[in-house]
Amino acid sequence: MIHIRSTGEVQKISRACQIVKETLEIIQEMIVPGISTLELDIEAEKFIRSKGAQPGFKGLYGYPATLCVSVEDEVVHGIPNNRKLQDGEIVSVDVGSLIEGYYGDHAKSFAVGKVDPEKEKLMSVTRECLLDGIDQATPGNRIGDIGYAVQRRAESNGYGVVTELVGHGIGTKLHEDPQIPNFGKPGTGPKIEAGMCFAIEPMINMGTPGVYTKKDGWTVCTKDGMPSAHFEHTITITEDGAKILTI
Ligand code: MG
Repeated sequence: MIHIRSTGEVQKISRACQIVKETLEIIQEMIVPGISTLELDIEAEKFIRSKGAQPGFKGLYGYPATLCVSVEDEVVHGIPNNRKLQDGEIVSVDVGSLIEGYYGDHAKSFAVGKVDPEKEKLMSVTRECLLDGIDQATPGNRIGDIGYAVQRRAESNGYGVVTELVGHGIGTKLHEDPQIPNFGKPGTGPKIEAGMCFAIEPMINMGTPGVYTKKDGWTVCTKDGMPSAHFEHTITITEDGAKILTI
């Protein structure tokens, strides 16, 4: 069942989204060669709690941290640890918050120091995939239109779309219906209506689409060892189209 949220509910989701937006602004400033992913996590948790919110991921399904920090060939769900970020790496940071019973969810990929143009391009195309998907999130369209737009942009650049993980509805739960794949056929899937709230999150690999999960049970990596990027916005659907809540 896909929830249609009232204006008051969207306001609460929007509050959670502003907190994760500000969290990533702080984390972005901290991303320099030599910082550990755990240091980022500690700061993010401190900031979220200072806003009267709770980390949205910590404890959910047993996940142990505030952030997911995924470096290079790690696609998503990297658990913060003592790994120090190196000049030339790309790192994806995903963060959720929970306030007054409502969630916000947001992710961006960042360059550590100076990265090569291929990685810059992967990140900018993944961002464009997200925006293309969001453009399709409008009343009367269907969920498949979002995935089709993401997939078209990614594959026309020669990239692999991760299919094992998907975007999702969001509200009083972090993950609600519908699932929002980053691939699909136009005109298929559930109809999009005003008041729905979605987290759209393309995960795009520089190489082939295949992924596997590490022995820690969480970290998803590319099978070919090539880098992957991840961008995510939480949006709400209005009569006029999507409104991004995490900007
Ligand atoms: Mg998400």
